[in-house]
Formats: sequence, structure tokens, C-alpha cells
Amino acid sequence: MTAKLIDGIAIGKELRAEIKNGVSELEESSCVPGLAVILVGEDPASQTYVKNKQKSSVEVGMKSELIRLPATVTEQELLDHVQQLNNDDSIHGILVQLPLPKHINEDLVIQAINPNKDVDGFHPQNVGKMMIGQETFLPCTPHGIMEMLKRTGVEIAGKHAVIIGRSNIVGKPMGQLLLQKDATVTYCHSRTKDLPSFTKQADILIVAIGRAKFVTDEHIKEGAVVIDVGMNRDENGKLCGDVDFEKAEKVASAITPVPGGVGPMTITMLLKNTLQSAESACGKAKNNLQ
Ligand code: NAP
Repeated sequence: MTAKLIDGIAIGKELRAEIKNGVSELEESSCVPGLAVILVGEDPASQTYVKNKQKSSVEVGMKSELIRLPATVTEQELLDHVQQLNNDDSIHGILVQLPLPKHINEDLVIQAINPNKDVDGFHPQNVGKMMIGQETFLPCTPHGIMEMLKRTGVEIAGKHAVIIGRSNIVGKPMGQLLLQKDATVTYCHSRTKDLPSFTKQADILIVAIGRAKFVTDEHIKEGAVVIDVGMNRDENGKLCGDVDFEKAEKVASAITPVPGGVGPMTITMLLKNTLQSAESACGKAKNNLQ
């Protein structure tokens, strides 16, 4: 079997065209969605992520604001910037690029963001709403994966979804969203014993570990759908996922590549969340958060 490719670039493009239309509609009533990104320090990966987020938001017609702060910024100064953005009516989405320098408490900063502008979906209030199935901003990576599965026609109800990884931004919320769509969900992590015995049962296997080409054909059931969240560098410095694509595509029925899979969807969902925040702030809310 050679797996069907789940193309995050194409699906993301389709979705961004819809978002762009949504932005144009809002602009007719003089409401321009605004996304503010706070970048602390000079981490090269963070700079690239932020650049891509800004570029994408401008492409769909949003206002984009970047606040660059030195790595030496104090926690209070950073909190003051967040507060200013909370009070700025032209800003509908606030994103603080993580990780932050060690002297700053990330939890405190996330909690300082107005939950109505928390387009990353990391604020505990929004995480709680997601857990109980209320409308809220969903975290972008798992939300993007749900959208990919939907647009690829992958059936979720009654399927066994196995997730490797239990981070707050990917693994944990991923399981919740799949559960809400009636999958049977198993979480695996670094303390899981005999990992393949679990992953081999997966109809849908989501891999979010952060280790290059860790998952091979030996972890995958024939015909499974494999979603690779990982973003790593291989021995030649080339971008690669957590899944060994060449081996996995021989057994999977469908698989996401890296690059060109989950990554583009993550940014797209950030734009979708920002649009929804603006629609809600400008009184044009549509009931389409999930
Ligand atoms: P993380 O916070 O480091 O979490 C990694 C998870 O993998 C942890 O739960 C860990 O288990 C588990 N793990 C580590 N080694 C394992 C092993 N040998 N067997 C089974 N489980 C193992 O990472 P993350 O933020 O979720 O990100 C995961 C990957 O996705 C990274 O490569 C990251 O760069 C990438 N990512 C991509 C996007 C995107 O848009 N494409 C977005 C976010 C993240 P414990 O909990 O037991 O430590």
C-alpha cells in the first residue's frame, strides 16, 4: 500500500481563501481584524514562526502588529505590554511567542491575556471551555489537525485514535477534540511501556513527540491514518517529522508530510481564531467556532 498524501498546504490554502472572504466581509462594516504578536529575545526558530504568522495574517487582509522585546525584558514590562493590547480595540488576537526566557513565568503571561483575545487557545479559561465542549478558541495545532481530517474525509466516530505525546499545546487537547467527535482515545508518552503494542491498534495515529523519524512501519497498523506533528532536523539538517515517512507510507492509508502537513494548518487556524474574535468583537459573530 502507498499512502495517500494529506496535503496541509492545499487544505490550508483553501481555508485561507475562506478566511480572506470573511475578512473582506468584516471590512465592509469598517472592522479590520488585528493580530498582535509579542516576540521576546532572538531565538531563530521563534523569529521564523513569528515572521510566517505575520506574513500570513497580512495576506488575508488582517492588521498585523509585532512587538519585539529584548530577552532581558522584565516580567512586569511584558505583562504591561499584554495589558495595553488587551485594552486596544483594534487588536482582536494576542499571541505571545513561546518559549519565554527562564526568568519569566509563562503561565502568568498566558493568564494575563484577555481570554476573548487568546487566539492561541492557551488561557486556562479557554482550555476549560474546550474540555466541557463549549465554544471557545481551540488550540491551533490540534484544531488544524481536526480540520485536515474533516476535509480529507477521515471518519472519526468509533475509531481508535492513539496519540503519542501529552503536551498542553498538542497531545492533551488533541485527545479531547477527537473524543468530542466520538473516537476512542489512548494517550501514550515517555513512560508508556511497549509503545508499539498501543500504536499498532490505532486507526488514527497522531505523533507529537519531538524526535526525528522515531515512528516507523513497526508502530503502524496496515491502513491507519498517520498525522505527524513533529518538526525536527535530521542528521543532514533537513526538516523532518517524528515519523519515518518512507517506512510509514508503505503501511498507512493516508499520511501527512513534513514539511507541508500540520505546520501550515497551525498558522491557518490562528488566522481563523483571529477572524472569529474580530467577528465577535464587531458584532458579526457566526456560530462556527468548532
Ligand atoms: P513536548 O512538550 O516536548 O512533548 C513531547 C511529548 O512526547 C511528551 O508528552 C513526552 O512524554 C512524549 N515523548 C517524548 N519521548 C517519547 C518517547 N520516547 N516515547 C513516547 N512519548 C515520548 O512537545 P510538543 O510541544 O507537544 O511538540 C511535539 C513536536 O511537535 C515537536 O517536534 C514540536 O516542534 C512539534 N510541533 C509542531 C507544531 C506544528 O505546527 N507543526 C506545533 C507544535 C509542536 P512525557 O510527557 O512523558 O515527557
